[in-house]
Amino acid sequence: MIIAVDGPTASGKGTIAKALAERYGLPHLDTGLLYRAVGRGVALAGGDPDDPADALAATAFPPELLGDPELRSEASGGLASRVSIHPEVRAALLERQRAFAARPGGAVLDGRDIGTVIAPGADVKLFVTASVEARAERRFNEMREAGRAVTLEAIAADLRARDERDRNRAAAPLVAAPDAIVLDTSALSREDAIARAVALVDRMSAK
Ligand code: C5P
Repeated sequence: MIIAVDGPTASGKGTIAKALAERYGLPHLDTGLLYRAVGRGVALAGGDPDDPADALAATAFPPELLGDPELRSEASGGLASRVSIHPEVRAALLERQRAFAARPGGAVLDGRDIGTVIAPGADVKLFVTASVEARAERRFNEMREAGRAVTLEAIAADLRARDERDRNRAAAPLVAAPDAIVLDTSALSREDAIARAVALVDRMSAK
């Protein structure tokens, strides 16, 4: 079974994807991490994330970079959103994601374009979303727990900018696949959001 989980930043899609992978015994790929590694790679090389050639060169990042804790920072998220605009970067990361989705037995992938581009034939497609306010508050709490100095206002502004860029780019914009089920987690606890997602997967995969 292939499960595609798409949605904007801090919507809860990563948490849900991880929980679904555990529940159904499937491998999980957080595709945002690949774009974050490219963004960080450009920064480390002193390149320009808005330059397609610099960004493309960084797609050949060493595998160890995926374990860099700095990839989880807001700065890396912002860089990821900038390099992910370039079609050549998306093309360079495509095969790797498709191969993961095609693993025998299936997989869970989360990102922005899994249900639309990477695995359009996925058995189950979820589009996880939440209001900007709910997402900003979650991200703020996560960052504070991680000991990072941030303000709620700065996080909300960053989320809005990232949403805008992800939704309006020409290559593989953030949009729900026509056959995706939308799950709004604004008013749901972590546990309730996971329970809802499991119920949706059970229902859709039984079809
Ligand atoms: O999900 P995450 O916040 O880690 O993603 C970081 C950025 O990477 C997103 O804002 C988006 O621009 C980009 N991304 C993408 N396609 C994906 C996953 C992430 O364009 N499948």
